[in-house]
Amino acid sequence: MNEIVLASNNKGKLAELSALLSNFSLLSLEDVGFNSVIEEPYETFEQNAYQKASTLFQFCGKNVLADDSGLCVNVLNDAPGVHSAYFGGEPRSDEKNNHHLLESMQGQQNRSAFYKAVLCLIWHGKTYFFEGICEGMISYERQGSGGFGYDPLFIPKDYDQSFGELPSSVKNRISHRAKATEKLVAFLKEQTNSH
Ligand code: IMP
Repeated sequence: MNEIVLASNNKGKLAELSALLSNFSLLSLEDVGFNSVIEEPYETFEQNAYQKASTLFQFCGKNVLADDSGLCVNVLNDAPGVHSAYFGGEPRSDEKNNHHLLESMQGQQNRSAFYKAVLCLIWHGKTYFFEGICEGMISYERQGSGGFGYDPLFIPKDYDQSFGELPSSVKNRISHRAKATEKLVAFLKEQTNSH
């Protein structure tokens, strides 16, 4: 089975990507003995995803995959965006991020937002990007405790429950990460069939 090393310690992302890439053998940072922190200094998801993937590739030389993702809120000029993981300040926590988001949105009628994920794959030394977007809105209070990050506050378009309430099978079909991974899987299928 083809091995891919995932450049993430985020348990929520790892669980979702493992479910979405069930035909691949996914290795963790721990599996390859990588234990440094990778800085994400850039203002685009693409650059940060590349930073994570290329740092790990330089370390282990294997096929690697990185996910850079976040929540973009219309009335906040697409914030928190690439800063989603620490929107509520350091030390970072989902609880503080959700609290800060609700405070920032107080009194706002326009609640529209989207999640974006950019996957950066370094496959046999070449770099590829795959992107996914999931549109939705920010609820007025936390709903449910499933998923991770901002999921209790994010209601995907055409649904009336949040990602914190919907089963993971639904999120893994319609999320930003699911859409990006769908493109990645199609690419990998092509690659593995042609070798
Ligand atoms: P990154 O590790 O720099 O890519 O930060 C991603 C951050 O974006 C996470 O810590 C979450 O706050 C948020 N995020 C990304 N994807 C999701 C998701 O699927 N659900 C909830 N929050 C997400």
